[in-house]
Amino acid sequence: METRGYAVLKAKAPLQPYSFVRRELRAGDIAFDVKYSGICHSDIHQAREEWGSAIFPMVPGHEIVGVVTAIGSSVTKFSIGDQVGVGVFIDSCRTCENCLAGQQQYCLEGMTGTYNGYERDGTTVALGGYSNKYVIDEDYAVLVPGNLELSGVAPLLCAGITLYSPLRHWKAGVGSKVGVIGLGGLGHMGVKFAVAMGAEVTVFSHSPNKESDAKRMGAKHFIVTKDPQAFEGLNESFDLILNTVSADLDINLYLGLLKLDGALVVIGLPGKPYEVSGFNLLRLRRSLAGSMIGGLPELQEMLHFCSEKNILSDVEVINANYINEAYERTVASDVKYRFVIDASTF
Ligand code: NAP
Ligand code: ZN
Ligand code: ZN
Repeated sequence: METRGYAVLKAKAPLQPYSFVRRELRAGDIAFDVKYSGICHSDIHQAREEWGSAIFPMVPGHEIVGVVTAIGSSVTKFSIGDQVGVGVFIDSCRTCENCLAGQQQYCLEGMTGTYNGYERDGTTVALGGYSNKYVIDEDYAVLVPGNLELSGVAPLLCAGITLYSPLRHWKAGVGSKVGVIGLGGLGHMGVKFAVAMGAEVTVFSHSPNKESDAKRMGAKHFIVTKDPQAFEGLNESFDLILNTVSADLDINLYLGLLKLDGALVVIGLPGKPYEVSGFNLLRLRRSLAGSMIGGLPELQEMLHFCSEKNILSDVEVINANYINEAYERTVASDVKYRFVIDASTF
């Protein structure tokens, strides 16, 4: 299937138009016209090899939504015309205990990433969502409820599920106090979800100009982290703090804000190891944990939650020829709150 997209030809190079061929439909595959593709900060980390060596040419993109155009002979879950989404992985071993438990992101053999990796045949390079056509096994795609407008759905496939999953796992809800560090693509979804679940939400941000947006999204408190007095009075008061920052950060500052049995969850991945004070963990039996995206059943559950509660990402829709500028603006925390590429412009 002839496909048009955008690719990075070598590390740190700008993205450029790129044509390639996707596989013909297998029995269990669906094909879809991509409508929108979100720009996640992980795309930038990988295109610039900030997480180590990568595979080029790279077609990034793992926040993919579209409309089904063809189905293979054994497909049961999708019909032509359905709205469909694909996130951060396109396959996994399907037989390990984590896959069987619907936690494919933690597949013991390693999930098959949507790009910057090989498909399970070990030789085909997976090419991601910055493209106008897509083919995937139906088991690794999710149905997008028809009432959701697709541009605001694309970021849910990574940014959304990545915050929804830890909020559910650590049981955010009425009576809990949740902190979100960084109001970016991930962070703003964390605020929307935590508020919808009933938690009291505090945003920690290094961008004072985001306060009114944070409050509009339902956050009760907004802390400007550059202010040295900002943390006064906040010690030992949070149940859960989600760190979505894409840059290095002193997490000891935040560990001190957790109450008994509170958890600080690492979600942002700048690539450099954190320094952690053991004293900060022992006191009040605090946990430092991590969380990576979410599995397929939870992804589907999140989309139903969004459909019921009318939750979408705040997006800036761009044309493909703006991707390089969008990368720079994302790194500068200058996006409200996710860039989404209109796939008709590839
Ligand atoms: P993003 O839209 O760029 O948001 C990151 C936010 O971090 C910014 O909006 C900014 O928030 C804050 N920030 C950025 N630079 C900073 C600095 N120098 N100092 C302090 N704060 C800074 O990125 P994203 O797409 O949300 O992704 C965030 C991170 O999560 C990335 O590292 C990404 O790779 C990672 N990620 C992890 C998973 C997972 O499964 N765990 C999934 C997807 C992405 P303020 O302006 O409010 O300060
Ligand atoms: Zn992502
Ligand atoms: Zn597995």
